[in-house]
This record gives sequence, structure tokens and C-alpha cells, in this order.
Amino acid sequence: MVLPIVAYGDSVLRKVGVEITKDYPDLKKIIADMYETMEVASGVGIAAPQVGKAIRLFIVDTKPFADREGDDEEFTVEEKKELAEFNRIFINAKIVEETGEEWPFNEGCLSIPKIREDVIRKPKIRIKYVDENFVLHDEVHEGLIARVIQHEYDHIEGKLFTDKISPLRRRLLQGRLNDISKGKVKVTYKMRFPNK
Ligand SMILES: [Zn+2]
Repeated sequence: MVLPIVAYGDSVLRKVGVEITKDYPDLKKIIADMYETMEVASGVGIAAPQVGKAIRLFIVDTKPFADREGDDEEFTVEEKKELAEFNRIFINAKIVEETGEEWPFNEGCLSIPKIREDVIRKPKIRIKYVDENFVLHDEVHEGLIARVIQHEYDHIEGKLFTDKISPLRRRLLQGRLNDISKGKVKVTYKMRFPNK
């Protein structure tokens, strides 16, 4: 089932997600619904707070990056293959290390439609999490994959990419952000607006 995506301004996007256990009600269904919702919105990741649940769950599927054509980014065959195959469910994730020289990337967010901004982040992360079977993983990721994980991870920490841009840029965007919270934005997918 496709779920409405919570828009900027909703308090659920500002909550720090709580850890969940194996017996969290309807977990399998929530994950399936999140996949469906992400695909319909052409996203590369979605976090539980974006469908109204302040829990430590997010999914990442970078395949659309590999499929995208005519983009500025040029990927090597190897990178494309990696992006096409990367698909994970992160539960109770904890980023334990972020290293390397910070780099900018133009980020967007399903909860903040039509706004894209350069965000600076470190390129390499180490993350511990459990998957949908509650099997523990400890992985290192880099580049664009790390970037998407960092963005989704921020969601379960109650943060948004607009928190990471300069105060001046944010001030310039404030009117558009307010409009989004009121539903004054054209989107092709289902959304839930806090101030409509
Ligand atoms: Zn987002």
C-alpha cells in the first residue's frame, strides 16, 4: 500500500526515532509499504518518520541513480553496478564513524519536494544495524551510497538536510518551506501536509 509522505513542518520529522524489536506490530507490512511508497515517488531512500512513524527504520535502494540517464554525474561501469545492486533495510542503525574529507552533493528529500541544496558530508561511514530478520551487520560504505545512508539516518535522528545548509540559504528558502508545509506545492505522489 502506498502511504502518504509526511511533508516538511510535521513534528514527526523532528522526533528522534526509537529502537524497535522483532515483534514491532506489522513490521513486515510497514517495510513493504515503505518500498512501495519510495518507488512511486522515485526515491532512493525513505525513513519511517516520513510515513509518520518515529522509529529507527529506513530503507535505501540506489538503483534509480544507476538507471538515470543524461545526468551530470558520470559513473563508471563498476559504480553503476554497485548502485544498481545496493538495496538494504536498516533497523536500529547507529553510524559509529564518519571519516574523510567533506564533499558537497546536491540533495533532495521526498518530504521537501522541489527543493535541492548542496550539503557537505564526510564520504565514508561505518554503520551498525540489524536487517529485517534482526541479523546484526557492521559495514563500511563510501561515496553516493554513504551519502544516501547519511541522509536517511538523519531522518531517524530528527534531522533534515535543510538543517545542514547555511543560515542565509535557509532564510532564503523559508517561504518555500512554509508553502510546502501548507501543501502549496505540486507533487506527483501522495503527501500529508501539517499546515493544510
Ligand atoms: Zn529525506
